Amino acid sequence: MPMTPQHGASLEPRARRRIAVLGGGPAGAGAAAFLAGAGLDVCVFARGKRPPIIVGESLVPAVVPYLRRLGIEEEVAAYSVWKGGATFVFDRESRLNIRFDEVRDAKTTYSYNVPRDRFDASILGAAQRCGARVVELTARLERDGDSDRVRLCGDALAAAGWSEQPDLVIDAGGRSRVLTRLLGIPHLEGDRRDTALHAHFEGIEVEVPGNVHTDRLEHGWAWRIPLQGRVSMGLVVDGDILRKFGDSAEEQMDAYLRHDAVIRDFARPARRVTPVVRYTNYQARTTRGVGENWALVGDAFGFVDPVFSSGALVAFQSADLLARAVVSGDPAALARYEKEVMRNLDTWHRVIRWFYDGRLLTLFRVGQYVRETWPGRLVDFHFRKHMPKIFTGEDVTNRYSLALVSFMVKHGLARNDPRALQIL
Ligand SMILES: Cc1cc2nc3c(=O)[nH]c(=O)nc-3n(C[C@H](O)[C@H](O)[C@H](O)COP(=O)(O)OP(=O)(O)OC[C@H]3O[C@@H](n4cnc5c(N)ncnc54)[C@H](O)[C@@H]3O)c2cc1C
Repeated sequence: MPMTPQHGASLEPRARRRIAVLGGGPAGAGAAAFLAGAGLDVCVFARGKRPPIIVGESLVPAVVPYLRRLGIEEEVAAYSVWKGGATFVFDRESRLNIRFDEVRDAKTTYSYNVPRDRFDASILGAAQRCGARVVELTARLERDGDSDRVRLCGDALAAAGWSEQPDLVIDAGGRSRVLTRLLGIPHLEGDRRDTALHAHFEGIEVEVPGNVHTDRLEHGWAWRIPLQGRVSMGLVVDGDILRKFGDSAEEQMDAYLRHDAVIRDFARPARRVTPVVRYTNYQARTTRGVGENWALVGDAFGFVDPVFSSGALVAFQSADLLARAVVSGDPAALARYEKEVMRNLDTWHRVIRWFYDGRLLTLFRVGQYVRETWPGRLVDFHFRKHMPKIFTGEDVTNRYSLALVSFMVKHGLARNDPRALQIL
């Protein structure tokens, strides 16, 4: 079925020989590798200047098969920390440790915590080995009249070595959303207005080596991600509250770490070894993912929240699906791609809401007690196959797993009020 201009491309995907990719993060470099590997002429524009440290350091296990496919797992493992699970800290007294090797029928039972600058360089290297060209340039776009088409500006076109416009422009530029802003495409925003402060520290404790730690705080939550020789720490807290702790990002982070009862104990001996990087307004996804001669991938398509470390997986999955759609030559494939990514983002969004309203942590806590009883052990056997696989990324779009968790967060909390564990 041919796609309308409002909902997809009018060109036959097989005719798309020249592909411009804006952005060399996991989504852009991943898409470039898959498309160039299929024989298309791909040029990636990768912005040279990047922040001193980059978020997206904790990978879920479902990312590992992509690293294998790109041939970079060994390279990544050499500079990363092996990650065997996740620790959820409910309050000063209680926590839950999840081990990926206890997930029944899991395909991958581990993952990595990565320094993102090196990780992105590894993926770009893989894209180049597949035949993609990488140009260090911030590529600019312009709209083609009043149409649904975009064009590369002259300097980018020349840098790519093309005399004609590319057949397809992929925006993989992350949350700057270059293309959708240019075309005035609306975004759906989430209901949180948090600010994330991110820095690296020496001397911060982790409870289970290698695990990503999610700490529920008096206000908001924190992550602790062990990297080689240091720990990445992030605070995700309402911006109005953070402003009470100082003016600069550094003042706010340092003062908040001394203030909060859950983290101040393990943060006391810490030494911050990087500046603090601030992120705001990151719960947003587009209302359209493909157009006449363009497509969005990764965060440029949508980013729902960092709490389950899902961003890099969504980036690789969308890059993979998009490349398959483009290469397939099926005119309806891009529309299916758009639908599939939207469904994926919707699922993560649902699960993330259960984290913030306290249902998920309450369910985890109830599960700890129920598992001690024999009927509980039976239920747990079934549960261990489905529930954790949503968080490892293996079953995010499995309807049964999602329905099971959905049922449990509604009916499986016993008499516990989830508000006791909500994230303020
Ligand atoms: C606070 C926070 C914590 C997070 N923690 C995690 C985590 O632990 N695990 C996880 O998996 N995900 C995490 N994420 C999400 C993760 O960072 C992203 O989902 C992931 O990086 C998306 O990859 P991407 O390639 O789409 O975008 P990006 O990684 O943002 O890459 C886009 C690249 O494109 C470049 N660019 C932009 N415009 C242009 C242009 N015009 N020309 C050339 N280059 C351009 C940018 O400079 C950037 O390098 C976190 C996000 C936030 C905000």
